[in-house]
Amino acid sequence: MARCATPFLVTVVVSVIIAVRSATDGLDYEGPVLRQAAGKALRFSNDSTFRVALFADLHYGENAWTEWGPVQDDNSGRVMSAVLDRENPDFVIYLGDVITANNLPIPNASLYWDRALSPTRSRGIPWATIFGNHDDAAFEWPPEWFSATGIPEVRCPAERFSGSGEKGCSFRGTQRIELMKMEIEKNSLSYTLDGPRELWPSVSNYVLQVSSYVDSKQPVVYLYFLDSGGGSYPEVVSNAQAQWFDKLTKIINPNTSIPEVVFWHIPSKAYEKAAPKPTSPIRKPCVGSINKEGVAPQEAEWGIMDMLSERPSIKAVFVGHNHGLDWCCPYQSLWLCFARHTGYGGYGDWPRGARILEMTQHPFSLKSWIRMEDGTEHSKIVLSS
Ligand SMILES: [Zn+2]
Repeated sequence: MARCATPFLVTVVVSVIIAVRSATDGLDYEGPVLRQAAGKALRFSNDSTFRVALFADLHYGENAWTEWGPVQDDNSGRVMSAVLDRENPDFVIYLGDVITANNLPIPNASLYWDRALSPTRSRGIPWATIFGNHDDAAFEWPPEWFSATGIPEVRCPAERFSGSGEKGCSFRGTQRIELMKMEIEKNSLSYTLDGPRELWPSVSNYVLQVSSYVDSKQPVVYLYFLDSGGGSYPEVVSNAQAQWFDKLTKIINPNTSIPEVVFWHIPSKAYEKAAPKPTSPIRKPCVGSINKEGVAPQEAEWGIMDMLSERPSIKAVFVGHNHGLDWCCPYQSLWLCFARHTGYGGYGDWPRGARILEMTQHPFSLKSWIRMEDGTEHSKIVLSS
C-alpha cells in the first residue's frame, strides 16, 4: 500500500513539555495537550498505521582525520537511505551515539550531527533524537598525532565540515544542550525537545503524543524519551528522571488507558536479567538474530524499571549501545528490545540495519522487525496486540 505519511504529520505536540513543567513546578494543570502548536502533531496515517525506523549508533565523525572516517559516514548514510526508501516510515528515532564526539576536534559537533540527520530530512520525514554516551564525550587525543619529537600535530577535520574555514581548532566537547538546540532551531522536521531544565545536563527527556488520524487531539500512543547519560556524566537514568517520568505519566495518562513506548540509549540492568546467555543462540520467547556480546548496562538502577513494570500501558523499551545485540526479550509485563547497529562508525562488523516499529490504531498493536541494509527482513515479532 502506498504510504502517504508526510501530509498528515505536519502538526506536533510539543506541549507536553509544558505539562512537565506544570507537574514539577506544582502549577495548575489543565489537560494533556496544553499548547498544540499549529501545524505540528504526529498522527497515524490514513491507513491507521504509524511506522517508525530506529537508527542506532551511527557514530558520525569517527576517525574524522583519516580517510577511513569520512568513508564510514558515507556508508552509514547509504544504510539509512536504503532503509528509508524500503520502509517509508512516518517517523525516525535517532537512538543515540549519533556522533563519536571523542573523535571530533571542532567546537561544534553539530556539523556531523546535522549530516547524520540529512537522509531523513531530505525525504521530508520528521524525526526525534536522544543522546548516547558518545555524543558529548570529551575529545581524546589520538596517540598517532604525536610526532617523534613529542609535539602533537594538530589536525582539524576536513574543511568541508568546518564551514567557516577558520584557522585552528577547539578541542573541548560540545555540550548536550548545544547539540540539541542547534538541531531544534535549524530543523522544522525535528520533534526533539530539550527537556525540563531541572534535569539538565540530562537533556533528552520528553514525550511525544501520536494522535489519531481523525482527531489530532486524541492520543493513540505516547512515545517517551529518556537520556541515559554517558559522556559528560554517569551512565544512568537518575532518580530525578524517574520521578519526573512518574509525575508526567500520572498527568497525561492517569488510568494507563493509552499505550506507551519508551526509548533510551544504554540498556538498563534489567536487560541483563532478560538477556539470553551471552553469545548463545537466541531462543523463544526472545526473538532476534545476533547475540554476540554481553549486555553493557547502565551503572545503576534507580527506579525507572519498577515504574515501567507497574504500568500495564508500557509495551516495550528500545535501546542501542550494544552493537552486537538485536534481540527482544520479555521482562515482566513488557518487552526489552535492542535496536540494530545502523552506522559503519563504532565497533563491530556485523551487517548494518535498522529496527522498524509498526503500530496500528484499531485495535492498538505494536509489531517490530529488522530491515537490513541489503533489503532483507528478519526477527519479526508482535510486541503488543
Ligand atoms: Zn555506539
